[in-house]
This record gives sequence, C-alpha cells and structure tokens, in this order.
Amino acid sequence: MTIDAHIHLDQYSEELVERYIQTWIESGVQSVVAVSTNLKSSYKTLKLKQKYPTFIRAAIGHHPEDAPPLQRELHELLNLIKKEKHLISAIGEIGLPTYNKKELYELYHEEVFVETIEQFIQVAKTEALPVSLHAVHEESEKVLNLLKKHYIRKAHFHWLKTSQETANEIICCGYYVSVTPEVCYRKRDQKLVQLIPVDQLLIETDGPWQFNEMFMGRETTPLFLEDILTCLSNILSTPREGLRKKILENTEQLYINKS
Ligand SMILES: [Zn+2]
Repeated sequence: MTIDAHIHLDQYSEELVERYIQTWIESGVQSVVAVSTNLKSSYKTLKLKQKYPTFIRAAIGHHPEDAPPLQRELHELLNLIKKEKHLISAIGEIGLPTYNKKELYELYHEEVFVETIEQFIQVAKTEALPVSLHAVHEESEKVLNLLKKHYIRKAHFHWLKTSQETANEIICCGYYVSVTPEVCYRKRDQKLVQLIPVDQLLIETDGPWQFNEMFMGRETTPLFLEDILTCLSNILSTPREGLRKKILENTEQLYINKS
C-alpha cells in the first residue's frame, strides 16, 4: 500500500477521476492527500472528498505562486477550514512564491504573501491541522522561520529543494519532507533524500505535473509511487518493502484521514 502525499486531484478530468481511482486502488494506492490551490479548487477538493471519503485526505489552501487571495476570499477560505474541519486533513498548498516571485512582487507587496501564509499558519495551529508547504530554495528558510515563530509542530515541505543547512534544520524541527518521481533521475533530489531520516520521509507525485526521463510523455498518477519506492530503495540501499511500510506509517501519522 502507498499514499500519495501531495497531488492536485482537482486538476484531473472529472469524468476520468472515478475510473482512475478504481484502478489506483486495485494497484495498491491506499489514499491520496489532495491539495488545493485557491477557493474554487478548495470547494472542488471538498466535493471529491465527499464522493470518495476513504480514498481522499483533503487539504485546502491557496497556492503561493499565484496572485494572493482577495481579503474576502482569504476570509472565506479560513472560515471554510473551521466549518468543514471534519472533512479536512491539512491546510495546503500554502507557502511563499519562488518561481513567479519576480512578477508577483512587481504587482503585490512581499508582505501580502507573508501575511497570507501567517494567517493560514495561525488557523492550522488553532485547528491542530498539519500544513502542506510549497517552500523551496531561499523561501524554505523563510517559511521555516514562520513555522518556528508560531510553534507549528506538524508540517510537510513538499518537493523540497534547499541547502543542506536548511534541510538539516527542517529535520531537526521534526518536519516531514517528500520526494517526487524526480528523485529517480535528478542528482539534486538524490542528494537531498540522503539527508532525510526515513521516519520523516514521504512520497508524492504532485500530479498532474509532468516529469522527464523515464516518465516523459506519461500522465502523472499515483501509480508512479511504485517507481519512486524502487529508486529510493536503490539510493538508500534499504529494502523496498521496509521503506514502503515506514513511509506509509509516516503519511498516516501526519495526515489523519477524516471519514
Ligand atoms: Zn503542488
């Protein structure tokens, strides 16, 4: 059994999802952590959660590489988290922008992004929910400091790219880190994964994001988790089944299924 710790399920075609989920379950995918990117996407994730309550662990939030939410949208999102808490396993995807930083900071004050993530973090704390983070390169350290500032205990740095120093700090704080199919072919990710203790490691696809090399031209689905496990077993020289068991336990511990 496996759990995809980060997937954008709302971005797959609605007609296909039903058939896909059946195939994924038959192939050993126990569940997925479905993250959201904005208010509309959060409603979609909640709808999917109601339709597939045991298969989906729902996370709602606002993606930091997009324009920040309007005040009323943020307000509605934060209220939604409280109102639908019985359905929600986490807050995410939240974080700070890296790839679109230049364009976004020309249009909005950097402060707006920091305030937005802090508001989510505060609700995560009061509602005792974990956060699913998009915090890479220099932003990983900034987000780490915000987590420390608010004494957050349960956090997941998804598809982390960072310095050895920051990775070590993230580990010291007890936070989780996930790798994507990229770990199968990219040196940077292979080096990073060796810094992460197995009991803080998660696996994800970030689907439908597309990957290269052996994944080129193939639709990204949680079926890729098996390939990640094979690669991890080689990189870490650890038996595959032991890794699978440990990673599954980690994911279940962090993202409690509400169903
Ligand atoms: Zn994502």
